[in-house]
Amino acid sequence: MAEGHEEETPLLDELEQGSWPSFVTEIKRMAERNEAARDLLGQLELSYKDKVTHWKHGGIVGVKGYGGGVIGRYSDCADRFPAVNAFHTFRVNQPAGWFYTTKALRELCDIWEKHGSGLTNFHGSTGDIILLGTTTENIQPCFDALTGDAGFDLGGSGSDLRTPSCCVGPARCEYSCIDTLDLCDDLTRTFQDELHRPRWPYKFKVKIAGCPNDCVASIARSDLPIIGTWRDSLRIDQGAVRQYVADGLDIKADVVDRCPTRALEWDGAKLDVRPEDCVRCMHCINRMPKAIQPGVQRGATVLIGGKAPIVKSALLSWVIVPFMPVTPPYTELKELMQKIWDWWDENAHTRERIGELIDRLGMKSFLNACGLKPTPQMVFRPRSNPYFF
Ligand code: SF4
Ligand code: SF4
Repeated sequence: MAEGHEEETPLLDELEQGSWPSFVTEIKRMAERNEAARDLLGQLELSYKDKVTHWKHGGIVGVKGYGGGVIGRYSDCADRFPAVNAFHTFRVNQPAGWFYTTKALRELCDIWEKHGSGLTNFHGSTGDIILLGTTTENIQPCFDALTGDAGFDLGGSGSDLRTPSCCVGPARCEYSCIDTLDLCDDLTRTFQDELHRPRWPYKFKVKIAGCPNDCVASIARSDLPIIGTWRDSLRIDQGAVRQYVADGLDIKADVVDRCPTRALEWDGAKLDVRPEDCVRCMHCINRMPKAIQPGVQRGATVLIGGKAPIVKSALLSWVIVPFMPVTPPYTELKELMQKIWDWWDENAHTRERIGELIDRLGMKSFLNACGLKPTPQMVFRPRSNPYFF
């Protein structure tokens, strides 16, 4: 049992063993001064013992003027753990690239210790700051404090645009082909209505990666991945290439032979690339970052339809625009997003993600509705049966 706790927690205590930090230790620390955290430990222990969750499915809770951003949660054993009877979650919109000042973090934690359990999750899988556990009465005062001088706003939840997120991009990464931070911030501000007022068939996620390394895994985790790329040739510094070789790099085995489209050639002194064969996989750049850089004509590849297996199975995204220039005010991208949402909203069943709708009605209908021309990059997988068209 942790010091100061009323309940024995032998099963949770097990989770503190081993070399990794434990969320149990963090809840115990907060439990010393917060009774909701204390009852949370008790209820969680009971859940491990009973092998079922003791949270009831959330009811509708919210703040004035918003339809999303707060997720209702109630305990089914409130008689035993009254401090977690209502334990609602706030989703707070994170800054682009997750950059904070320590002042902002302190303010956020002070607000949350005053109005909630003090427990946070940095960050949820969509990207938001997750504030775990407050009562129904505290929701509005907490929201007022967050959105007042602290300058935060709520993120998306339910059937709306989920909080857009992006990689750190040009702030810290030399590979970035687009300004992920500015684009994420701009889209978030532009589509406030879509973010705060759920009115769609289901959720819609946008994630932005500065290059095809896709550190935010946008291709699998978002309905609309926007991935930085280039359309001219890789830039190769031959002197730096030779230096890698002199330093022991097996350029043939580790770079040239691993190019998925055999776009590279090495004659012992010079590394050549056939730009028309390069599929921008990033392998050669990652292997020799001092010698190879993305090209200078930069923009983004826009994809559609990635999702995790919630209603139907997991989907990876499809390319819909191989190359789009991405500069403020991002009009072309925003217009495309509006068209996508209109078609989806008009045609989808309840809880049908855009990828599932395309699967049901066909890519052709989707492209027609969005005014996009088919291109070879959209082929999802090569045809394997010559008799089936
Ligand atoms: Fe850098 Fe590319 Fe990763 Fe973004 S996705 S952090 S640009 S490597
Ligand atoms: Fe080949 Fe990938 Fe390098 Fe392009 S980026 S040349 S596809 S290894």
